Amino acid sequence: MGGHSNTGLVQITKAFVGLMSGVELADPQQMRVYAWERKFRYSEEETLKKSGIQEWVNWACDMYAVPHILCKPDPNPKAKISHYWNDNKISLARKHMNMMVCLHEAAHGIHTHYFGFPAEAHGPEWLGIYVRLLTKARFAPKIAITASLEAAGLLYRKGCVSPGTLKKKGPYNR
Ligand SMILES: [Zn+2]
Repeated sequence: MGGHSNTGLVQITKAFVGLMSGVELADPQQMRVYAWERKFRYSEEETLKKSGIQEWVNWACDMYAVPHILCKPDPNPKAKISHYWNDNKISLARKHMNMMVCLHEAAHGIHTHYFGFPAEAHGPEWLGIYVRLLTKARFAPKIAITASLEAAGLLYRKGCVSPGTLKKKGPYNR
């Protein structure tokens, strides 16, 4: 839905929100992605054990034919943030030991595998991969995911980040 004018408006809004919130313009969607995630139940709760977080990350990697990424709870139980490290590791804060954050971080690993380490970590390619993972995992009905992203003005790619397309493209040439 919506043609060029709508897309233009979303982009202007995106830049504006980035400026107003003081977010680095290099990654203008970051804070709005976090806000969008917080609307979902359990997004900030520990619902999985150590084996469960690795299983979800492996599942995501397998879907995209990416070598498995080691996923561990942060050794500091009070850690507040989770990370994908460029040397192919994920560490999760305790409250992030759930499906949503596993797939968020796995999407960073998959994105980096195919596009290199990005300036815009939460850009439309990354979000497109994340949305695909969430949908395939039946995290929520697809319409709930896509409609809420649209309402938040978040841009994500579709066909060009499908597993088939990316496998054909091949890994980023390091
Ligand atoms: Zn992230």
